[in-house]
Amino acid sequence: MTRRPYIVGNWKMHGTRAMLSEARAIDRAAQRHMKVEVALAPPYTLIHPVHREAEQIAVGAQDCHDQDGGAHTGDISAAMIADAGAKFVILGHSERRQGHSESDALVRAKAQAALAVGLRIIMCCGESAEMRESGQAVAFVKRQLEASLPPADLMPADVAERLTVAYEPIWAIGTGTAATTDDIAEMHGVIRALLVELFGEEQGAEVRILYGGSVKPDNAAEIFAVPEVGGALVGGASLTVDSFMGIALAASEPFES
Ligand code: PEP
Repeated sequence: MTRRPYIVGNWKMHGTRAMLSEARAIDRAAQRHMKVEVALAPPYTLIHPVHREAEQIAVGAQDCHDQDGGAHTGDISAAMIADAGAKFVILGHSERRQGHSESDALVRAKAQAALAVGLRIIMCCGESAEMRESGQAVAFVKRQLEASLPPADLMPADVAERLTVAYEPIWAIGTGTAATTDDIAEMHGVIRALLVELFGEEQGAEVRILYGGSVKPDNAAEIFAVPEVGGALVGGASLTVDSFMGIALAASEPFES
């Protein structure tokens, strides 16, 4: 089975209600590219408003807490984001691992909490520039991903439906310099092999693996042509309908000729 390309926008800490018109425009444009699955992860404050606007795209969150509730001032549980209309949550983004000292164990606990309330998860992984320069990128990413994912016996049976992996080399995020297609091909191949090892051929081969890190309309087509690239996690270029849908168009073109 070939899955639809999955193009997910991560708005990070950008967006007030003034951005709702952009979300609406993205949603309406996505209706013209049905061979691509388009989704948006705005800040928490916009999840419900974007969900109410959306006719086509799924809305998600950029993080959630690992506990169901309690004395955690300022935090948001998986059930709360689901209640606001989120269908998925991005977990283990490098900006959270670095800026909020999130360990692999905490990311794994968050994944279990999100899956328990029925959310789909996008699990991020990726190496630093130092790791790549010292030749440890592949070993690091394998170890990080395996330690961040819930073990197979705690995953739902429909793993491929509920789990997406995003490979995001830290040095490529927000820098304007994407990884080379050779580096993407190598890492996505390694991730695919790990997913098959962890979850079996039937599910592991179907999990979509997104690339993230300075994806733009002008480099998207060559990235989507790389084997095992099932779409993109897009930061900066997801903030406007023109650049975000330029990327979605690059993902849909092979199917619409
Ligand atoms: C991201 O933060 O997930 C990301 C990929 O950002 P950008 O596209 O801006 O590099």
